[in-house]
Amino acid sequence: MVALRSVLTPLARHIHRHLIKQTKGQRLIPVRRCNLTACSSKYVLSALHPMWQGPLVAPGGNRQSPIDIRVRKSVFDPHLKPLTPDYDPGTCSQIWNNGYSFLVEYDDTTDKSILKGGPLEDNFRLCQFHFHWGESNAWGSEHTVDRRLFPAELHMVHWNSNKYSRFEEAVMEENGLAVIGVFLKIGKRHEGLQKLVDVLPAVRHKDSVVEFTRFDPASLLPANIDDYWTYAGSLTTPPLTEAVTWIIMKQHIEVSHDQLAVFRSLLFTSAEEEVQKSMVNNFRVQQPLRGRTVRSSFTPFLQQEPPAKGPHTGH
Ligand SMILES: [Zn+2]
Repeated sequence: MVALRSVLTPLARHIHRHLIKQTKGQRLIPVRRCNLTACSSKYVLSALHPMWQGPLVAPGGNRQSPIDIRVRKSVFDPHLKPLTPDYDPGTCSQIWNNGYSFLVEYDDTTDKSILKGGPLEDNFRLCQFHFHWGESNAWGSEHTVDRRLFPAELHMVHWNSNKYSRFEEAVMEENGLAVIGVFLKIGKRHEGLQKLVDVLPAVRHKDSVVEFTRFDPASLLPANIDDYWTYAGSLTTPPLTEAVTWIIMKQHIEVSHDQLAVFRSLLFTSAEEEVQKSMVNNFRVQQPLRGRTVRSSFTPFLQQEPPAKGPHTGH
């Protein structure tokens, strides 16, 4: 109880400050562009979830995640190479509802599914992917772009298999992890995702696991993976270690409202619990940049529309 109170008191203060910011009118800019219910429920839900009740809830590091990506402040780095994921769908093994999200897990005992290139010097093995999402389509992503919120965000988690021998070791170390982030937007049905959506009812409750094989994680990447932002950050769930090279895709993927509705039908709670809680708003609040640089693999202002052709160019 003491630990919980020590978390909730500053939390309540924060929410209070946030409420004041919102009600004082136009002079102050809200922390994030969202309505009051969204922001306050977000703080309460992420803090009250059992995953966040413990000493790790106060990280206090200098490179925490997620962050808001300010497009104009990101720095184009011409040395950033193209990203080269090389995934073997045969390494896909199971889906697990861990009580906070659902994890699609991959066999990471060999280098069969790896990520390299981009900002990475080493080979990083895929171990799992998962999503974060909101209770409505107005919010849900962990990262934002110029404060723009997306309904959901995919995280593909890899660990450095050149330097470490397993995930549990890499997670505690500098340069241990590489996570690809992809924003989800509501639009047309995503055919690649549907195979996954179809099996979700089988892992509705916390701690349920089902076999899930031959799923190609590359099917969830956007068509353009050459354009991305990268920065040094942390895990967004406990243990919050600052081991992550984040690679956030500029291009989003589209999923249908109905597909995301199936995500929201999952539960934070196990079958035995009396009060069942919908799995929604499973994201961490944003963290300060603290002087970090976000690099981009693309030039945001030079690769716009091709020069307009005059109406009478002649032949
Ligand atoms: Zn995540």
